Amino acid sequence: MHIKQSLQQLRQLIETESARYNRNATDIKIIAVSKKQSIKSIEQAISAGQYIFAESYVQEALAKIQNLNRPELQWHFIGPIQSNKTAKIAQHFDWVHSIDRLKIAQRLNEQRATSLPALNVLIQVNISNEASKAGISPEQLPQLAQDIISMSNLRLRGLMVMPRQTTDYKLQRQSFAQTRLLLNELKQSLATKLDFSLAGLLDNLSMGTSNDIPAAIAEGATMIRPGTLIFGSRD
Ligand SMILES: *Cc1c(COP(=O)(O)O)cnc(C)c1O
Repeated sequence: MHIKQSLQQLRQLIETESARYNRNATDIKIIAVSKKQSIKSIEQAISAGQYIFAESYVQEALAKIQNLNRPELQWHFIGPIQSNKTAKIAQHFDWVHSIDRLKIAQRLNEQRATSLPALNVLIQVNISNEASKAGISPEQLPQLAQDIISMSNLRLRGLMVMPRQTTDYKLQRQSFAQTRLLLNELKQSLATKLDFSLAGLLDNLSMGTSNDIPAAIAEGATMIRPGTLIFGSRD
């Protein structure tokens, strides 16, 4: 299917599902996951009005960012982060969704140029408690969040999850609902440490991939991360 058509269908889906839950469709951003997709496919998405893209592999992402070289594009990093890649991420990305330990946050904070706006970051939570999955445990979340909010070159913007894959709509909603509650609890626990303007920015739930978008919207997703749904299968 054409990328333009799948984006149109996705925008329609967001309209329908957000209306069902009395949400504003404009509060839900499409983060198009372009990992392992060609420059040509990304260009097609851009022609169809999509400007926000997410990548998981640093080298691959840099090649695309440099090749496309368009300031209106916004790049999000969503993959596992190795220490030796943080400098490149700090330099070239606008958002990072996959922070799950202090050391990585510290390095990004040190390496983000002060001439750039603060790097927007989300903490990845291992919401289904899977041994194989990246993400911090819910128990360790408050401490990491507290450490990050004191870093001047990072801006804590919310949480990201990648729950255990299931086609069961109820189970999908359960994981996303847990994430929503976790963010609420976190905001309450940080309330005395955040000034009002910062607290207002800590409001993002990055959740929902190609197979569970309606459940994510039902539970408050503000950023959805479909890849194959937009671009088709990856190389
Ligand atoms: C690959 C990936 C996606 C996109 O998954 P699809 O099934 O292609 O929609 C979303 N989020 C993360 C963290 C990913 O690694």
